[in-house]
Amino acid sequence: MKRGAIKILFVASEAYPLVKTGGLGDVLYSLPHALHHRGADIRLVLPGYRALLRQLEQVRILGWLDVRGAEGIVSARILETRHPDYAFPLWIIDCPPLFDRAGNPYVSASGQDWPDNAERFAVFARVAALLAQDALDLGWQPAVVHTHDWQTGLVAAFLADQPLRPKTVFTIHNLAYGGYFSHSDFLRLQLPGHWWSSEGAEFHGGFSMLKAGIVYADAVTTVSPTYAAEICTPAFGYGLDGLLLSMQSKLHGILNGIDTTIWNPSTDVYLPAHYSMSRILPGKRRNKQALLERFLPHADEAVMQAPLLGLVTRLVEQKGIDWVLAAMPVLLAETDVCFVLLGSGQVAYEQKLTRLAKQHPERVFVEIGYDEPLAHLIEAGADMFLMPSRFEPCGLNQMYSLRYGTPPVVFKTGGLADTVVDTNEATLEDASATGFAFDTPDVASFLDAIRRALALYRQPTQWRRLQQTGMRQSFDWSESADHYLALYSL
Ligand code: ADP
Repeated sequence: MKRGAIKILFVASEAYPLVKTGGLGDVLYSLPHALHHRGADIRLVLPGYRALLRQLEQVRILGWLDVRGAEGIVSARILETRHPDYAFPLWIIDCPPLFDRAGNPYVSASGQDWPDNAERFAVFARVAALLAQDALDLGWQPAVVHTHDWQTGLVAAFLADQPLRPKTVFTIHNLAYGGYFSHSDFLRLQLPGHWWSSEGAEFHGGFSMLKAGIVYADAVTTVSPTYAAEICTPAFGYGLDGLLLSMQSKLHGILNGIDTTIWNPSTDVYLPAHYSMSRILPGKRRNKQALLERFLPHADEAVMQAPLLGLVTRLVEQKGIDWVLAAMPVLLAETDVCFVLLGSGQVAYEQKLTRLAKQHPERVFVEIGYDEPLAHLIEAGADMFLMPSRFEPCGLNQMYSLRYGTPPVVFKTGGLADTVVDTNEATLEDASATGFAFDTPDVASFLDAIRRALALYRQPTQWRRLQQTGMRQSFDWSESADHYLALYSL
């Protein structure tokens, strides 16, 4: 590590490949690495979930920190580990009563929020804030603490009053998840009384950990320029638009990048065939065949010829799953398309999709669950990718699909608007088109965009050009990592 390298403490509730529920996990792997490659000295703090601890091979105990929990003092053991995928040390907050349990970081097996989430992430934040002040005397004092989403919102708040403290940056990956808790949680956790105000963490009779992050951090970022503007409006602001508007001077929209090593069609370890921009067709065809054969024992030429529309998504309202469910029967009736969907989330969506797959076993392929290799195969094997999110802070899948020559069909919002160039006469002419974007939030417009995509798919030369333009886009972290470094030094 270079002398004088900026020390940055990342604090987050998930990080690929140890624990990931969505794009947050991807970013917590790729952004710190991009900064590390630019010379930054990084530590990443994560909660000691059971599933995470089981993946660690060698750990070193750095010490113990006692903080206030809901029922008194809670003791946390701080572990340091080196993970083969990580170029810098990970610090794990091991507190078994709060994190040693089966299942998801945020919800139980039945899909309900863990009832003690307020305590879990308040304790996590208290310990992280102590680590940010080198409370264990490790001789490692960060200049910047970079926290992510509501689970870490209280870190900046705990640090705000400290006379000698690092700079705090809070990134909103999704404003829809506010980390809302009750007044009685606030009292039980003995959070500082002065936070309880409309200028503080209080929010409609309870409190919001996300709001705390926004209010108390020195700088707030979100993950695309368009989303940074959208969240300052009532339609996207979840009641925080007024606050965000008043904090314009410290709010920055910095587009997420993608990890171009992990997501690279010419080297992807999960793909049976590799391909690149100069020779797309044979590789993509073999991946399509492998993908179809997962669901159909004999994928004949007719199925291979039919356009295959792919989705990899959390099954929640944000992702426009109801539009997908409404559009699928129409397209199945009027065209020869097939669908392949990988996702998990709300049970009602899972059931409806599974039912549709049963009704059309030769054309609708649905896998409910979380499956990293299959996600890669869908990006590579599908002909186009559907991502009709009602709102999308950044979105990674559309960038993956562009890179994999799988043009995306997206609603023009947030990061989707910032990364996909709609196909029309002008953008085809100047070779800037990369996908299909619709700007009215309804099924008819979504269908219209898919029909436009299908029409172009039938023109192989034009389609190839569209794929190549998408594959040529640069979504790596270089520009955005420089933005973050500039922000840290402000
Ligand atoms: P969000 O963070 O809102 O879920 P993003 O597009 O930013 O959406 O990131 C989603 C990430 O999670 C991508 O890496 C995507 O491949 C992955 N993903 C989502 N659902 C699944 C799933 N069921 N199986 C595997 N990967 C998934």
